[in-house]
Amino acid sequence: MTDTRTKTTATQKTEAEWRKELTPMQYAVLREKATERPFSGEYEHTKTQGTYVCAGCGQTLFESDAKFDSGCGWPSFTTPAEASHVDEERDVSHGMIRTEVLCSNCQGHLGHVFPDGPGPTGLRYCINSAALKLNPK
Ligand SMILES: [Zn+2]
Repeated sequence: MTDTRTKTTATQKTEAEWRKELTPMQYAVLREKATERPFSGEYEHTKTQGTYVCAGCGQTLFESDAKFDSGCGWPSFTTPAEASHVDEERDVSHGMIRTEVLCSNCQGHLGHVFPDGPGPTGLRYCINSAALKLNPK
């Protein structure tokens, strides 16, 4: 197994390269901002300790310690592992005002952040499983 925790440099790939490297589901989420069906993702109920990295570029995104069971149908976290590893952007698509969460390295779409989390941050990072890869501790 390769060590994906090594710091990666900013990733710029063509859409054709992404299409080749990612699974169709990963591509739909990361590059086309799709949302996987709720309660369908691989990591929704995962309790394994470890680090969730970007499925596109391997950048560290979330620690399992910040994961909680929100019941919303997607893996949910109270805070990113490093604030600088995620970018947040206002998203007004689908008739809603939401905050989109992106990987700051490859600009892959991860999910959205909502202000109804349980922790001290009050935030719920609602992330697609397809955008994540778990490296168990
Ligand atoms: Zn990334």
